[in-house]
Amino acid sequence: MSDLETTREILGSLISHPTVSSESNLDLMWVMADRLDRAGARVEVMKDASGAKANLFATIGPDEPGGLMLSGHSDVVPVEDQPWSADPFAMWEDDARLFGRGTCDMKGFIAACIAMAPTFASRQLTRPIHFAFTHDEEIGCLGAQTLAHILRDREVRPGLAIVGEPTSMRIIEGHKGCCEYRVTFTGREGHGSRPDLGVNASEYATRYVTRLLELREALKHRAPPGSRFEPPWTTINIGRMAGGHAPNIICGHAEVEWEMRPVQQTDADFVKRSIRDYVGDILLPEMQAGFPEALISTEVLGEVAGLEPMDQNAARYLVSELTGANGADLVAFGTEAGLFQEIGMDVVVCGPGSIEQAHKPDEFIEIGQLASCLDMLHGLADRFTAHG
Ligand SMILES: [Zn+2]
Repeated sequence: MSDLETTREILGSLISHPTVSSESNLDLMWVMADRLDRAGARVEVMKDASGAKANLFATIGPDEPGGLMLSGHSDVVPVEDQPWSADPFAMWEDDARLFGRGTCDMKGFIAACIAMAPTFASRQLTRPIHFAFTHDEEIGCLGAQTLAHILRDREVRPGLAIVGEPTSMRIIEGHKGCCEYRVTFTGREGHGSRPDLGVNASEYATRYVTRLLELREALKHRAPPGSRFEPPWTTINIGRMAGGHAPNIICGHAEVEWEMRPVQQTDADFVKRSIRDYVGDILLPEMQAGFPEALISTEVLGEVAGLEPMDQNAARYLVSELTGANGADLVAFGTEAGLFQEIGMDVVVCGPGSIEQAHKPDEFIEIGQLASCLDMLHGLADRFTAHG
């Protein structure tokens, strides 16, 4: 069987596991672990606290620091309320495309990596090639956060990473982060005619939002020189505000949901510190002066680290040699790449298929894209093989 045929066969098997976030991914992980193990990889399946989800980490080649990590997420987004023309979890194909949930985002990349494992194992590798397949990327990169923590504490860990999200095999060297929060304000209700006797949660929520808007302006002056992001600075969006019952009732409960898209980690730290200080030093003491039970609580809905473009990036050099791609771009969508960059790895995002097809009904990947990905992985095998 050619590598492309093997990839197609593996992909069909991966697609048949409906690994949406509400379901366990263990069956899928065991299938992948088994294939990698049979190819000769050293495989670890690491379960999360619930026992229903796992990350997979595997290595082929020397047991030493460095090397390259091929990284992908095992979960897919749901298919409910989407008009699919056939079973999303039974892969089908036409002349040039393979269809099914996860074909492009991003089991196609994973299938290509697994298909290449026997080739990697047959070589005298000078540097290790690692596989990192995570759970729950689509709901906040949960698995990758755990894996990044584990790798950070290891002496033997990868130096470079390719995150194979669908980029049509273009090299992506940066994306903004995404941090989402829900803030709940609890005050004291009362009659609208006596605002002095209540603590109005909506009013404090309004002041909180006003402070965020001030910070949003400040962020425009913090854009990194030469930033290629659109817009070039870190943004804040107030996505949802809710509170109160009627004009004549003092609002006792209010909620604000907002997000921030940082272009650099220092901006995220700046905003979080500023708003925390404003709550702790001003808003909450004022609320509690009238009503000790008053509360402002912040729930983190998700914090996905951005991928900051770096002048020096060994993963970018390597992948441009392997694919022949000139230059590297930025994208609007988030990935797990920033989490691996945070622990000191050089990272790019580069994978088969187009983000245009991700999360859509009749999701597909072009077979030619899988072939290009296999070319890159063959190049990698040659590049990491001892000669002489
Ligand atoms: Zn994805």
